Amino acid sequence: MGIGTVSNQSSTLYIVATPIGNLGDMTPRAIEVLASASVVAAEDTRHTRQLLQHFQVEADLLSLHEHNERERCDGLLQRLAAGDSVALVSDAGTPAISDPGFVLVREARRAGYEVVSVPGACALIAALSIAGLPTDRFVFDGFLPHKRGARQQVYARYLRESRTAVLYESSHRIAQSLADLVEVLGGERMIAVARELTKRYETVLSGTAQEVLAQVEDDDKQRKGEFVVLINGVEVVPSIDVGLEAVLRPLAEALPPKKAAAVASQITGCRKKEAYDFLLSLK
Ligand code: SAM
Repeated sequence: MGIGTVSNQSSTLYIVATPIGNLGDMTPRAIEVLASASVVAAEDTRHTRQLLQHFQVEADLLSLHEHNERERCDGLLQRLAAGDSVALVSDAGTPAISDPGFVLVREARRAGYEVVSVPGACALIAALSIAGLPTDRFVFDGFLPHKRGARQQVYARYLRESRTAVLYESSHRIAQSLADLVEVLGGERMIAVARELTKRYETVLSGTAQEVLAQVEDDDKQRKGEFVVLINGVEVVPSIDVGLEAVLRPLAEALPPKKAAAVASQITGCRKKEAYDFLLSLK
């Protein structure tokens, strides 16, 4: 957007990023758009009111969270139809990224309204940019599941993933989650854990999964705050062109799990443990 471009166009939905901890990361354009929007849809209106007060912005606030997004859509589309401009913010970071917003964006686009991004902080991009793992190709899988079995299945997806994987995890589960990661992917996989990004106690732990787990287990400060987990991809061996899953499924029907894993490892060249963990994740 060039200088002089109007920041408040009628019948436009603005997706506005807000800081993930450091208020200095609020962009001047975000302030301008929020100040001039006809209505600001916010995940938590109390939280956003405080943010806006800090920047001396007065706005007409309306709640839009994961439980009412669909109902709210109709009302907001009506506002757009009436010529209003609508801004969407979440509690922190970029709306619609592990936050509400996707449904509203889709419906506004379907109805033919302009949807404009006002970019800024996003924990996944901030973490990826400083973790020291390859950034050219990555996969973002949102929040890790709360339950152990489901979490292990998610980790098993990266047994043969060549891209860097990025995930959100909570402080309640970070230690157990890293222990699960070690169990499924092995202690030697290179990982990084980015904590409290842009805040006073921002930390990035990196090294083998076993090393990072030990640091998190040994120091309770490393279990506090907000976390992004990043997992290095594996080098794909070009000679293995038979998918592990395609080999394992029929073998598992005919053989006990350990034997099936051993045969699959001979066929594909992967480690026996890798085949065994992957087999468990298929169930
Ligand atoms: N939409 C947000 C974004 O753009 O990053 C993410 C919202 S999601 C509900 C919140 C999760 O993002 C947290 O539980 C944590 O995993 C991650 N996160 C948010 N802020 C963070 C920070 N300052 N440092 C590390 N992780 C953060």
